[in-house]
Amino acid sequence: MKFLVFLEHHEGRLQKDALGLLSRAASLGDAEAVLLGSEVNELAAEAGKYGATRVHVDDDVLLDKALPQPRVDALETLLGNEQFDAVLFAASVLSADVAAALAARLDAGLNYDLTDLAVEDGKLVGKRPALGDSVYADVGWTSEPHLALVRSGTFEPKEAGGSAEVAPFESRFQDFSLAATMVEQAHEESEGPSIEDADVIVAAGRGLGGPDNFGLVEELAKALGGAVAATRAVVDAGWYPYSTQVGQTGKTVSPKLYVAVGISGAIQHKVGMQSSGLIVAINKDPNAPIFEYADFGVVGDLHEIVPKLTELVRARKAA
Ligand SMILES: Cc1cc2nc3c(=O)[nH]c(=O)nc-3n(C[C@H](O)[C@H](O)[C@H](O)COP(=O)(O)OP(=O)(O)OC[C@H]3O[C@@H](n4cnc5c(N)ncnc54)[C@H](O)[C@@H]3O)c2cc1C
Repeated sequence: MKFLVFLEHHEGRLQKDALGLLSRAASLGDAEAVLLGSEVNELAAEAGKYGATRVHVDDDVLLDKALPQPRVDALETLLGNEQFDAVLFAASVLSADVAAALAARLDAGLNYDLTDLAVEDGKLVGKRPALGDSVYADVGWTSEPHLALVRSGTFEPKEAGGSAEVAPFESRFQDFSLAATMVEQAHEESEGPSIEDADVIVAAGRGLGGPDNFGLVEELAKALGGAVAATRAVVDAGWYPYSTQVGQTGKTVSPKLYVAVGISGAIQHKVGMQSSGLIVAINKDPNAPIFEYADFGVVGDLHEIVPKLTELVRARKAA
């Protein structure tokens, strides 16, 4: 089976998830990769180490900005020149845009949010979580090429030490694809560790009562040297940024300590934090579902408990 892996890159480095996907593809068949951007030629060699036999490169200033449509044009050009059984994308905002638009352009089926890929009886099979990640479905494709978008963090890159042939190509761009320009690309500045990297997370739910009370959990997180996360109910209400949402439609985290404050513990939240080392829940309702899977539970009003807990942590640290 011949795979084409879309290699996303950022600040001069190939994206880890894309390299993980490349390693997986190389274990399943012949893995080639496609690299698009401006001044990216040097990155192509890197892909060989992770199993790519060939890297198709379009190094073009028109691909400089992280815009999806010119990339769809580039992939359409490449797939017009060469045949692949499957085109694989590691999920990111850009890759998801490109994969979906390519599916529409080629009238090809896209399976998304996959957590595994295998070849069975010569056919590609994807694994897709459903019903809040409580069941896994095997999915296939009925059209060619098979397009797949794989969930972030699914495959670890494995350095195999090979080298790839670099194959330059020139994309045919559509006028409408070049109509959009990137005005600005900004990264949110934040203090302390991000929720993906933090060893300690203090997460807040609707029980907090309003955005003005976030100071309570921020203080506790600061005392513990951790990051603040939130439930979907909270971010949907505009109380805290979307980037902090944990759960099925948010981020998956696995800190050593997860303190859930005023969170009911819905299944869609649970799937994003259940692999945390130690789960501590603070909730005034003794029947809240979170107590079914918390290691320690405190039943009571968070407005009384959280400031006291913060004081205790501070005092212990100062001692
Ligand atoms: C398709 C889909 C995807 C979803 N994805 C996500 C997701 O990614 N992440 C996510 O979190 N949710 C997600 N949800 C929403 C999820 O179902 C829940 O609605 C949500 O997690 C509830 O958020 P919450 O715990 O903050 O609020 P609530 O369920 O309203 O819980 C608030 C809790 O606070 C407690 N409380 C209230 N006052 C106090 C107090 N003073 N002191 C102590 N405790 C108090 C209450 O007893 C209650 O248990 C999704 C839902 C759907 C349908």
